[in-house]
Amino acid sequence: MRYTPHYPRTVAEVLDDDMKFNPDVLRAVKAYRAAKPWRGSEDEKRAKLRVFHRALCRIYGRSTALVLVGEAALACAGIFEPALDRITLGKVSVVTYLHEFGHVLGKDERETCRWSINLFRRIFPRSYANCDHAGYMLVKGLPRLPAPDQTIRATTVARPALPAHTHH
Ligand SMILES: [Zn+2]
Repeated sequence: MRYTPHYPRTVAEVLDDDMKFNPDVLRAVKAYRAAKPWRGSEDEKRAKLRVFHRALCRIYGRSTALVLVGEAALACAGIFEPALDRITLGKVSVVTYLHEFGHVLGKDERETCRWSINLFRRIFPRSYANCDHAGYMLVKGLPRLPAPDQTIRATTVARPALPAHTHH
């Protein structure tokens, strides 16, 4: 049966000022913010994201792998592969990472958009304000605009390291 992702149409549709978050998660995201996710070399940014990822995994008792492959290696911003329990990101992107981690927690497209966008907005209000909205996506600048994790389905380029993306 074909899976039809249930993406929200717009970012506005999922905004919720009263959304409740796990306090441990809020603490972890604030610690990540304090570490300045976007500052430093690519390696430094990756190391910070890995620390944040380990914190979220600890909170939820997960051992999800996080693979950072570089933008050129991935046709989309990021994917989560449930069968492999693995997140793969093309570059360090806080929004994309949170989106994929929402899938780790079993959220569908709509729910993970809602969770990740509101969480990002709560902790990074200025960065959020600087993002443009493209449909349900937050976009910084506009040159690269893949859907967070569906483009890989459309690509015909062989990507041996990445089995077809499957959502649950
Ligand atoms: Zn998704």
